[in-house]
Amino acid sequence: MSKVIIIGAGGVGNVVAHKCAQSPDIFSEIVLASRTLSKCEAIAKTVYEKTGRTIKTYSIDADDVSSTSEFLKAEKPDLVINVALPYQDLPLMDACLEAKVDYLDTANYEPPNEAKFEYKWQWDYQDRFKEAGLTALLGSGFDPGVTNVFCAYAQKHLFDSIETIDILDANAGDHGYHFATNFNPEINIREITQNGRYWKEGQWIEIEAMSLHQKYDFPVVGEQDAYLLYHEELESLSQNIPNLKQIRFWMTFSEKYLTHLKVLENIGMTSIEPIDFKGQAIQPIEFLKAVLPDPASLGPRTKGKTCIGCDITGIKDGQKKRIFIYNVCDHEASYKEVFSQAISYTTGVPARIGAEMILSQAWKKAGVWNMEQMDPDPFMEALNNYGLPWQVIELPLS
Ligand code: NDP
Repeated sequence: MSKVIIIGAGGVGNVVAHKCAQSPDIFSEIVLASRTLSKCEAIAKTVYEKTGRTIKTYSIDADDVSSTSEFLKAEKPDLVINVALPYQDLPLMDACLEAKVDYLDTANYEPPNEAKFEYKWQWDYQDRFKEAGLTALLGSGFDPGVTNVFCAYAQKHLFDSIETIDILDANAGDHGYHFATNFNPEINIREITQNGRYWKEGQWIEIEAMSLHQKYDFPVVGEQDAYLLYHEELESLSQNIPNLKQIRFWMTFSEKYLTHLKVLENIGMTSIEPIDFKGQAIQPIEFLKAVLPDPASLGPRTKGKTCIGCDITGIKDGQKKRIFIYNVCDHEASYKEVFSQAISYTTGVPARIGAEMILSQAWKKAGVWNMEQMDPDPFMEALNNYGLPWQVIELPLS
């Protein structure tokens, strides 16, 4: 019986609220707090309609550490589930330390005025969380998140030694718009317009954004064009999987999506450099976010499936071996269950499972942790039980 506070009432916050409400034996009290109260109330209403459970709602500014820590001290939750934006990670970790509450998020910290993300800022909290006896679980979404746990599972059960990992993320869904992003447009576009980067033999190799791609034949969703991107789990997995020789991340994009993105980039609409607009300084990308469809509104229109997994090679019993470990998630089934498309669903379900791992003590460990540093088994079992079943297939060695 535990009380959680979910922070952030966007697409992912909606899924976390629904999935926690479905398990009253674990999440006996749920609070949803975000910047805009009406968004919290709208989610609370659908949760009540679906599950009959009442969740409390509040308006907070998570960037304000002192008022957030006062709020946490008053509410006394067992865990904060941070599904606001990556900019809120550090203020929320500070507020959790101040109020002595465990912490979980799904994306690593990004400074608002610099398109750059890395774990350094959050790993720097290691000693403070350890000394306070608190757990901070980083990146408990799908990628990062489930992909890290897939690697830990492969390391534990399928290989004696892993050599290469390719993480592949395919969204073969269609929402019918010319251009829209499936999660927060600002975060999404900042991520994919950065230079690509991968890790090989102890070195980071940087390439021009979207300059390397391959056709990959995914289970269920078939052949897709996958582009090499830098993604945050590469940073922790390259450190935590022993003997690893190479790790890369690939995401699929349609030609239509890339053409729109190129035009927006070329005309400066994806820039984070403020411009003067009618006497007011605005970031073009923030303005673009306001013009694009709200990701939360894509749910009822999106059809098709996602397939995300890890293509791993290594050695087992002296033999070279290659596997693909993956989940397939259906946009329409997600919407039917929790009023959300599969991208928010595949992020919100692992956040709910990560929360259970901490609350049940299975993953309760003082310090700041990435997902692959924990025992993968209870998490893998929970994926099958809570809506994201997984499969492992053997692939021919290439
Ligand atoms: P949304 O933009 O839909 O939602 C973010 C929510 O956070 C909004 O409700 C917003 O409030 C709220 N918020 C923003 N700033 C503050 C603040 N200062 N104080 C309180 N609340 C605030 O994003 P998503 O739901 O799509 O994504 C949520 C998180 O999940 C992001 O960090 C994203 O990077 C991560 N993610 C992780 C994935 C993974 O697989 N690991 C995949 C997809 C997303 P308001 O409504 O007022 O704008």
